Amino acid sequence: DTKVTPIAPSDLTLSTTQEIDEVYARLSKTFESGVTRPLAYRRTQLLQLARMLQDNHTSFEDALLADLNKPRMETTVAEVAHLVTSALNAAENLEEWAAPTPCPTKEMWRSAWGATLHKEPKGVALIISPWNYPLVLTVNPLIGAIAAGCPVVLKPSELVPTFCELVSRLVSQYLDPAAYAVVKGAVPETTHALALRWAHIFYTGNSRVGRIVATAAGRHLTPVTLELGGKSPVVLAEDIGEAEMDVVARRVWFGKMQNAGQLCIAPDYAVVPRAKVDRFVEGLKKAHGEFFPDGEKGHPLTGEIPLSNIINPTHHARLVDLLRRTKGRVVFGGEIREDKSIGPTILTDVPVDDVLMEEEIFGPFLPIIPVDSIDEAIQVLNSKPSPLVIYLFTNQDDLKYKFLERTKSGQLVLNDTIMQLVAHEMPFGGQGESGYGMWFGKATFDLFTHSRGSITVPFSEEQFFEGSMQNLNISVARP
Ligand code: NAD
Repeated sequence: DTKVTPIAPSDLTLSTTQEIDEVYARLSKTFESGVTRPLAYRRTQLLQLARMLQDNHTSFEDALLADLNKPRMETTVAEVAHLVTSALNAAENLEEWAAPTPCPTKEMWRSAWGATLHKEPKGVALIISPWNYPLVLTVNPLIGAIAAGCPVVLKPSELVPTFCELVSRLVSQYLDPAAYAVVKGAVPETTHALALRWAHIFYTGNSRVGRIVATAAGRHLTPVTLELGGKSPVVLAEDIGEAEMDVVARRVWFGKMQNAGQLCIAPDYAVVPRAKVDRFVEGLKKAHGEFFPDGEKGHPLTGEIPLSNIINPTHHARLVDLLRRTKGRVVFGGEIREDKSIGPTILTDVPVDDVLMEEEIFGPFLPIIPVDSIDEAIQVLNSKPSPLVIYLFTNQDDLKYKFLERTKSGQLVLNDTIMQLVAHEMPFGGQGESGYGMWFGKATFDLFTHSRGSITVPFSEEQFFEGSMQNLNISVARP
């Protein structure tokens, strides 16, 4: 493990614009040399990355504890462990992913033309990541880019300075510095980087900055992946009864408490049949008692340390302001704390146009909206921009299809929250306001890969239009 010294946001040494230009030039040269193309090279880098994570998992825990007060177990389970698997999985499947794929085409004249898609690395890529899950959101896209054969500049969030410094040090130590580098930057440095011509930009963060990134990329026609956020709702169907209610509440509260609600797929609000609201709240309170038997001094998984902090005073003030302005009825928590933490809070009778329903909450508050029918629940969902995910709790299979047809979101998850992260093989991504481009596993490899089609037309075949004109009974020879 590498020794970690906590760094305050104001003490982070940022990259200069000259350094950014130098890194860009170095990586571009590396790409042109073809060094990153051979599968053996890519595999070595992926294994090195897995080693970096294994050797330093305690250091990553230390860094996220310093920056976010993130419980150690949360870092290990939600960030490090999954990444090691992801890197090893990419190394193992590389050959298959990168193999040229034949495109079965109709015989054009006397022979097929060997139509094939060749999997080519796009070129030097930029990955910009946020503070909330800084390791996974920096390294997981990197895995796909390495597997694809792309050199990469990583630009982690300046709001997690200790992590930023650590990852910068470790990447240069474990990976080939000619092909992979970390730029440490806030808005001015990122703006400078965004003006360069990248082969692909992978951005995770809020949708306001997503628009800035997409606009900058547009100047060079650079393809972009935008992993944004949104208000991911929970919907309880009428059929949820006494038998399921405690499990439902526990699963919702578990998803909400991760990183104190600062998770892109956290359940943002809950839409609940009016007659079931009280019982649902009772279940949530019970779950809270189970997760935090000693107030908030115990963590859901270890009972070890409290909830993550709210990332900074700006976000803390934003959450306090929401609590002050909401018209909802606080039925649990609600105390305003002036320190970095904020109390988990449940609110009922929240109007659809409440201040809590305007933007992604990104904190430990759960507003509950009472409804009288499932159609009314769908109306509430459809009055908001499409979120990353909709969490539907029901025993009725046909409701799943109703939601697939009548609502929009990146994903639809039934009867649990955040478990889509465990289904590594299922591509993940948003729709509309929650972003575009799918990733995870092979899907990430595909993002950084250009599938370049090729055909070989035999010299002997001249009347090549004949096939396509067959239906018209016309034969056309090349003039
Ligand atoms: P943030 O403030 O750390 O910003 C994200 C990145 O954008 C950082 O690297 C930052 O330096 C950069 N940035 C900020 N302002 C910029 C500007 N003006 N120009 C260029 N770059 C700029 O993180 P955040 O945006 O607060 O992250 C939280 C958001 O991310 C939430 O909306 C959350 O839902 C979303 N998110 C989405 C996913 C996903 O997978 N879809 C995952 C995690 C978080």
